[in-house]
Amino acid sequence: MNKNDSSVIGKLLADHGFESTTDPRSADVYIINTCTVREHAANRALAFTAGLEEWRKAGNRILAVVGCLAQSNADEITKRLKHVDLILGPDAYREIGNYVTQITGTKSRIIDTKLSAETYCGIFHRPNAVADFVSIMRGCSNYCSYCVVPYVRGPARSRASDDIRKEIVHLVEYGVRDITLLGQNVNEYHHESMGFAELLQHVSVIPGVFRIRFLTSHPKDFTRETVQVIKENNNICEWFHLPLQSGSNRILQLMNRKYTKEHYNGLVEHIRSQIPESTITTDIITGFPTETEQEFIETLNTLREIKFDDAYMYRYSIRPGTKASSMPSLDEDTIKARLAESIQVKNEIVVEKTKAMIGKVYEVLFESAARGNGSRGKTRGNKNVIVQEKIKPGEVRNVRITEVKGQTPIGVVADA
Ligand code: SF4
Repeated sequence: MNKNDSSVIGKLLADHGFESTTDPRSADVYIINTCTVREHAANRALAFTAGLEEWRKAGNRILAVVGCLAQSNADEITKRLKHVDLILGPDAYREIGNYVTQITGTKSRIIDTKLSAETYCGIFHRPNAVADFVSIMRGCSNYCSYCVVPYVRGPARSRASDDIRKEIVHLVEYGVRDITLLGQNVNEYHHESMGFAELLQHVSVIPGVFRIRFLTSHPKDFTRETVQVIKENNNICEWFHLPLQSGSNRILQLMNRKYTKEHYNGLVEHIRSQIPESTITTDIITGFPTETEQEFIETLNTLREIKFDDAYMYRYSIRPGTKASSMPSLDEDTIKARLAESIQVKNEIVVEKTKAMIGKVYEVLFESAARGNGSRGKTRGNKNVIVQEKIKPGEVRNVRITEVKGQTPIGVVADA
């Protein structure tokens, strides 16, 4: 979502005559787009901003801190980081060009952290890659007990389907071939009478759309109708990122996830029965407050049973103001040990699943050069694949997987 927000900010500044640079230290305006979903990301952003004091004072420059950390920690940034000129929350970007112009004239600091119904309708950035994002929703109303997003991005609101369609047409005109529809919980998309399954259907018929994906899903809202639409439309990739978070029903309840392990397993079974070639990935949080050893083992067992194609493993990170922040925390050593063990189990499964790709042929959309003379592309299942041949970004080739290095499949072009 932040990558997409950075594109929105870039477009808004381009409309005010600014150009982006690959050498940030030579810039007139330096914008740090921040995340606060975990403590580590928030601390890094603060430290990085502190490190720009000399840069800021060395010329007639503007330093901006934007995004979720700016929203949640505006007071702290104002007091501690006096060299920051502009502090904007995620709903305040529309005015960024005007704010920069005002600061240039007045040299005074501007802070705007108002939350609103903003969806950045009508702002179509110029893409510079074959894969790009289209935000279909903003905010979240689910209040998972560990998560700060509803507080810093406001309640869920859906963008008009016609505006989404126009942006996709625009991206396709610029050569984008792989489009990811974005939202904190895309399955809750609802605009006028259109739900997420209908939206998927609606955008899949746009001429020239080669691949559509979506991120992130919530297991409580994922419908069988959506599975059916994916099954029936060849340009919707059969990649399902379904955050499980925990394999223990008690922890899921404490997390306020509103589904059970059994519901989750049923969804996975349904997807695999309808679309056997599907790829399923997940997110896991280990060390949630009060998680017992037995409940942690339930999560490991669920990882082993489902055999995800990939999983993003996170240690629980306390976020001030959330419900979980008042629950009794586990000790640091236990959290670290559980994270390490879960990563090890996940790695074994991912390597095993990736090795099962050897000998098979996959449709790969190439996105960029790889180390050496090779090229990197993605399968429909969102797996990065490397080949030694030089292939232009945007080209689609059949690739036979010949080996696996680490967790990356390596292959050769095997066009008929
Ligand atoms: S669904 Fe839950 S985890 Fe995801 S953004 Fe919303 S509150 Fe956070």
